[in-house]
Amino acid sequence: MPRMLPDWLPGPYLLIGTGLALGAVLAVVAVRTSQVESRQTETEPVAPAVAADAPRRLAEALKIRTITRRDPAKLDSAAFRDFYRHVAQAFPTVHTALDTTHVNGLSRLYTWRGSAPSLSPIVLMAHVDVVPIEDASAWTHPPFGGRIADGYVWGRGALDDKASAVGILEAIEALLNRGVTPRRTVHVALGHDEEVGGTRGGRALSERITAGDVSPALVVDEGGAITRGALPGLTDPLAVVGVAGKGFLSVALKADGPGGHSSVPPARTSIEGLNEALTRLRANPLPSRLTGVAGTMFDYLAPEVTLPMRTILANRWLTTPILRAVLNRRPATRAAIRTTTVPTRLDAGVKDNVIPTEARAVVNFRILPSQSVDEVVAHVRRVLDGLSVQVEPIRSTPPPSVSKIDTPAFRMMQRTIGQVTADSVVVAPYLLPGRTDSGYYADDSDAVYRFVPYQLGPDDRSRIHGANERIAVDDYRTVVQFYTQLIRNADRLPVAHTSGAEPDG
Ligand SMILES: [Zn+2]
Repeated sequence: MPRMLPDWLPGPYLLIGTGLALGAVLAVVAVRTSQVESRQTETEPVAPAVAADAPRRLAEALKIRTITRRDPAKLDSAAFRDFYRHVAQAFPTVHTALDTTHVNGLSRLYTWRGSAPSLSPIVLMAHVDVVPIEDASAWTHPPFGGRIADGYVWGRGALDDKASAVGILEAIEALLNRGVTPRRTVHVALGHDEEVGGTRGGRALSERITAGDVSPALVVDEGGAITRGALPGLTDPLAVVGVAGKGFLSVALKADGPGGHSSVPPARTSIEGLNEALTRLRANPLPSRLTGVAGTMFDYLAPEVTLPMRTILANRWLTTPILRAVLNRRPATRAAIRTTTVPTRLDAGVKDNVIPTEARAVVNFRILPSQSVDEVVAHVRRVLDGLSVQVEPIRSTPPPSVSKIDTPAFRMMQRTIGQVTADSVVVAPYLLPGRTDSGYYADDSDAVYRFVPYQLGPDDRSRIHGANERIAVDDYRTVVQFYTQLIRNADRLPVAHTSGAEPDG
């Protein structure tokens, strides 16, 4: 009898064995997919009253040009003082009831003393500095016009980060007017230099608040927001709460080469040497990691997405290569799973017809919490091995530690978001692709969360630091409600005491 099957096909027993193994894998996949349990909290909506003219007070704050400068001497300090004068007038009860501390001249700490001073405090953070305007003509409404139009408050700082700064005070003003006194002390920490690293503002504020080993029960800063369509299979809006930021590293590269007149070029110039180094670095990124914060985020998302995404997220032991490919497709998701690499500065040449003997670049890395600055520098040296390029790390901040997720404080954040936003919002922890001043609390509190409840549509991300920054009036009301409810809910957190203090029973 002629053989019907080619030689390379396995024999019948092997085929049966393979079939059984495949069946077993499919069974495990099906079971794991069906067993994922939702980590969302059940909430009833609450709607703390927000004053009708609250958006107007934000709009007025957006008129004030608190523009950031790397050199503190060049700051328009009068503008910052105008800002604080505006909030003192806009929130008179806050101004009289809270203690005001000036920190490094232009940052402010407002302290609302709780009725139970032994309880560890909470910290509500925001920054009042804004990035400069590149091209005012690209704006529909003037960037410092403080306009309310088409359902939005327009202006530089509307999202980043005056909605928080003013929204926190709006919430406290309303609570004070209702006669509320919190049990926990509430610190409102407004920094003035977050956009240039926060070393004089955010860091100094954190040092003051945590002096004497005070460990805040909760620190809330900007960072995450509410998005839609971020993940295939997720139809509900997604609120991402940043539980960590990334580390920062800038590496200077320098390539040398023969100079001379451009009419007689050498075989290889400094620019080409540098170019090869930059190309190699982009072609050899650091490996992506689906563990850590990203892994926990998938645990939160798996129960909330439809098939087939649920199968993929619930069976990462099998599907990691698929997931990796999906996430690497978009810049935002790519940044969530790896240490990113990008050249940000180039410098070479002085004249069209002169070949420069030296070419320089700066490459910027944002480092995953599971990696160190040293590991990234070693990676750069390894990738550039054999090229005549000098590598010099010039600026770095290690990644801050990751806040705890399976805790009453995180669940309280979840519940608060659920209470003040639309019913179906899914809340998940995530890794902030950048940094904020909240990193300065990473060693003092295990509950540092980065989130403000405004909606970020697909084109809104570019408005932050770009043209036409704006916040929907409805979103701003939600922001105020969020801080109001957060202050109430924080009082019901399980008691954690400042060190050295006696429990108040
Ligand atoms: Zn910001």
